[in-house]
Order: sequence, then structure tokens, then C-alpha cells
Amino acid sequence: LSERLQKAFSGLRRKGKVSESDIRDAMREIRLALLEADVNFDVVKTFIKNVRTKALGAEVLESLTPSQQIIKIVNDELVKTMGEAAVPLNKAPHIPTVIMMAGLQGAGKTTTVGKLSKYLMDNDSARPLLIAADVYRPAAIDQLQTIGKQLNVPVFEMGTDVDPVEIVRQGLATAKENKNDYVLIDTAGRLQIDEKLMNELKNIKELAHPNDILLVDDAMTGQAAVDVAKGFNEQLDITGVVLTKLDGDTRGGAALSIRAVTGKPIKFIGQGEKMDALDVFYPDRMANRILGMGDMLTLIDKAQKNYDEKQAMEMAEKIRENSFDFNDFLDQMDQISKMGPLEDIMKMIPGMANNKALANVKMDPKDIAHMKAIVYSMTPQEREDPDLLNPSRRRRLAAGSGRPVVEVNRMIKQFNQSKQMMNQMSKGNMKGLDGLMGG
Ligand code: GDP
Ligand code: MG
Repeated sequence: LSERLQKAFSGLRRKGKVSESDIRDAMREIRLALLEADVNFDVVKTFIKNVRTKALGAEVLESLTPSQQIIKIVNDELVKTMGEAAVPLNKAPHIPTVIMMAGLQGAGKTTTVGKLSKYLMDNDSARPLLIAADVYRPAAIDQLQTIGKQLNVPVFEMGTDVDPVEIVRQGLATAKENKNDYVLIDTAGRLQIDEKLMNELKNIKELAHPNDILLVDDAMTGQAAVDVAKGFNEQLDITGVVLTKLDGDTRGGAALSIRAVTGKPIKFIGQGEKMDALDVFYPDRMANRILGMGDMLTLIDKAQKNYDEKQAMEMAEKIRENSFDFNDFLDQMDQISKMGPLEDIMKMIPGMANNKALANVKMDPKDIAHMKAIVYSMTPQEREDPDLLNPSRRRRLAAGSGRPVVEVNRMIKQFNQSKQMMNQMSKGNMKGLDGLMGG
């Protein structure tokens, strides 16, 4: 999905306002990208409609390119579609909190029971009890036992000849006796939703009054995962979804559709077979992953607030021409003090995070004020030709600015490093910066 979306944006590299034809083209690409990623048709329709309305009504921001503006709008809409914020598990006022799993066979219920109990032990010092209520396959009980041993968590089971509802009843009684604060119920699945399965789950629900009924749903099945979520929600009124196997799903269609179709939040995502491969679902992180824009969005946010595009363009031009001087350095420092620390900004540009030159760039607002004082003490010739700054001139700058000579030297060194670094960037990794600067 991210590749297709990036393609949709690459057609919008020009500067200036977002035009209607820009929007039309981008919307067509985004629509295709979403459908290809197996996003539910109705969700795509609503999504495109909202993005288009926002893009048309967007206030014209000269500091952003059309592509950046639309990326921002698409991102915000992705986050909104997935529910804005993470939704935590429900907690019972009196222990135990009961969490019931539901889902088709092979979706990852038993694995998720294990992962979730580990998560609760790590984050809530939980003392969970696991209940083995899948009686149709003997192997299912063994599997839960193995997980219980591995995590050192007790498993309540009564073999395969007892009614699952009865197992849950006795399991809950055991939990109360042993003062377990969480009970996780592993249930049986079928290959498809059928009445017998649903009735069994409804009976367990009625008896156990779970605080959460989590549908465990396989992301790799794409559109089918959305239908499953719809079906289980209609029958069981689930409280949330655990979307598993996202490590194998590169398209992300299910993640995007489930909330919109069921109205129920994805609470966790499974990203591997191991017990620690469970993460809280954050809509903004998932949007980021779907868009594949790295931290470019944070950068766009900052730029949107503070950056003066014209100055940035001129700066980029200077860097290219290698004629960056102390006057530009002054401008740059003004912009930096508006935008935040340079090293933070650089880190956000894809490919720049590990640049060695960055390690030497440190700027704090007070330093910037001192540096400016030093530059102000320079003659116009010195500002344009830093090579003129011999030791006696440096002493004069120190006296003029009221800063020690070592600091003058340090600033000149920093200027040279900064120039060198930008020079490197303009030769090598200019892509990210180009996008940023609209060019
Ligand atoms: P159940 O039938 O719903 O109880 O499913 P299981 O818990 O037995 O899981 C079925 C298979 O999916 C097992 O091989 C698990 O290791 C695997 N599985 C579960 N969750 C994930 C996940 O998040 N990522 C991957 N790659 N595999 C998973
Ligand atoms: Mg199972």
C-alpha cells in the first residue's frame, strides 16, 4: 500500500496551490491503491470523499507543496478512519477481569491468550489464569498448556469431554478462589462462522460476563477479515479486535477497514509467533506504516507551522551552488530557532538519521543568540568570505560580540561543518530535502 500511495504523491511534486486536477489525479491513484490493498469498498468510498472535501477546502499554505498538503490530509484521514487513539482493555471494578477470545480456527486465539497474559504480567503485574475452553481438538489444550508452562501461568482445563460453558464456570470459580486478577478464556474456532459456534460463544459470554470480548482476526486474509469482524460483532457484540499476523500482511487493508465497518476498535496487533510479538494498536503509527512516509509527516507539521518556503528555496539553491555564507548562516539560525533543534529536524529526513556530521551539530537558543552576536560583529566582506577570518580578526569579533575567542573559533568551526554537511547532502541524499523544500 505504501508504495502505491507514494506513487500517487510523486505526481504532485510541483510547487504552489493544490489544483482541482491535482486532487482528481491523486484521488484516482489513492483509490486504486486502497482497493488493491483489499480495503473494504465502502470504506474506500467514504475515505476518498472525505479526503477530497478536505483537500478542496484546504487553506492554501504556501509553505507546503501540493504533495505535502495531500499527504497530510490523507494521513489525518487514515488516523481518523482507524479511530484516532489507542483503546485500552476494560478493567473490572472487582477482580477478576475476564477477557474472552473469539475467532475462526487458526486466527491466533490460543497464541494471543499467551501473548496477552505476558503483556498483562509485564504491564499490570497481573496474575492471570488461562481457561482452556476449546474442547474440539485435544491438541488445543496441549498448546495452551505449553504456553502456560513457558510463561509460568496456570491453565485451567477439564479435558475434552466437558461442555465448554461448564469449564468456564468452574474456571472462574477457581480464579476467584486463587485470587487471580485476570482470566483469559481460550475458545474454539471454526473454519467459518456457523450457528453452533456462535451459540457456544454466546453461552460462554452470558455466563462469564467478559469485560472484553476480543475477536482475534487474521490480517493476512484481507477483505475476509473484515467480513469475519462484521459477522462476529453482529452476533457477539465484541468489544475489540486483535489483528494478528500483521508481520505477514504488507497491504494493511484489514487494519484500515475494521473500525470503519464494525465501529469496534482494534486494541492490539500481533506481529509474530513469539509471546512478545503483541503490540498496542496506535492508529497514528499504523497510518504512518500504511503511508510509508517515515517521520516526514512530523516534519511537514513543523514546516507547516514555521517554515518560510521562499527562504528555504533560496537556501537550497545556495547549497547547490556552494555559496553558503555567514549571511545565510544568520537566516538559517533564525529559521532554526523557529523550527526547533537542527539535529532533530535532520533526524526526521529519511536517510539522514545516521549522518555522522549531525553528531557535531548542537544548537540551543542561547547559543544561537551568541552566534548571531558574533556574526553581527563581522564586516560585510567577512560575512561573505569566511576565509578572511584570521586570528586577529577573530580577536576583534570576540571583543565586538563580548564572547570569548574560543567561542568565536567554535562557531566558525560549526559554520564550516554545517556548510560541509549541507554540501554532502546536496550531492548525496537530497531526495528527502528536495521534497521538503518543494523542489
Ligand atoms: P487459533 O486456532 O485461533 O487458536 O490459532 P493459534 O493460536 O493456534 O495460531 C495459529 C497459527 O498462527 C500458529 O502457528 C501461530 O503461531 C500463528 N500466529 C498467531 N499469531 C500470529 C502472528 O501475529 N504472526 C504470525 N506470523 N503468526 C501468528
Ligand atoms: Mg486455539
